[in-house]
Amino acid sequence: MDTDHGAPARGEDLRRAELGAALEAVRARVARAEATAGRAPGSARLMVVTKFFPAGDLARLIDLGATEFGESREPEAGRKVAAVRSELPGVAFDVDMIGSLQRKKAKTVARWARRVQSVDSPDLVDALARATAAALEAGARVQPLGMLLQMSLDGDPTRGGAVESDLPALADAVTGHDGLLTLDGLMVIAPLHGEAEAHLAHAAQIAERFRARHPAATELSAGMSADVESAIAHGSTCVRVGTAIMGPRPLASQ
Ligand SMILES: *Cc1c(COP(=O)(O)O)cnc(C)c1O
Repeated sequence: MDTDHGAPARGEDLRRAELGAALEAVRARVARAEATAGRAPGSARLMVVTKFFPAGDLARLIDLGATEFGESREPEAGRKVAAVRSELPGVAFDVDMIGSLQRKKAKTVARWARRVQSVDSPDLVDALARATAAALEAGARVQPLGMLLQMSLDGDPTRGGAVESDLPALADAVTGHDGLLTLDGLMVIAPLHGEAEAHLAHAAQIAERFRARHPAATELSAGMSADVESAIAHGSTCVRVGTAIMGPRPLASQ
């Protein structure tokens, strides 16, 4: 996949047209959902999840006006971000780590990620703080690393996340690294089969309680291709959309 770096060839670029149409359609879904929920336009931001798709697709999407991306696998993600940055020098875009993350990969993730949305253990927080200190020192980043605490609401450990009662300790771990990490909010992955609505409603309640204690932690990252509307109705500020824009991922990737 990494052979498809960089800017697409001029002339007919069917992939660009395909991505452009899908991006437009999802933007329209987001706008309609905001309006239906009585929310301000732009209060739910669209993050395009580009995992398993080549760097050339990121370049196309940036050209189409997308500015926020989600990636879930390291080192694939770091290589892709580096390829796009060298292909498009000076062009601003942000990439968040949204997939479960092993501590040993914190070091490289801190070099490219704006935020990590899959924070679910104090050990991972400490590893990310050390990695951020090193990245700042080396000039590989200039800002603190943003942290979204991933909630687990269904007791399914395979998708990661912390239970609600663990969130205060996790938040303290983050705020203990002032200057290196920022506590930006919460993230949730609703179940794939049924009950997404109930989970999103539950996530919204937890987020409201969380913000009462941490007013700067305004982000609620919730909603994927299938549940954009429901997530925005329940207060999502960041919908993470892959399939509906990129098309189906390779089967082996699921
Ligand atoms: C892959 C992924 C998404 C995107 O899912 P789609 O159903 O393809 O939109 C969103 N969030 C996370 C954490 C993911 O891993």
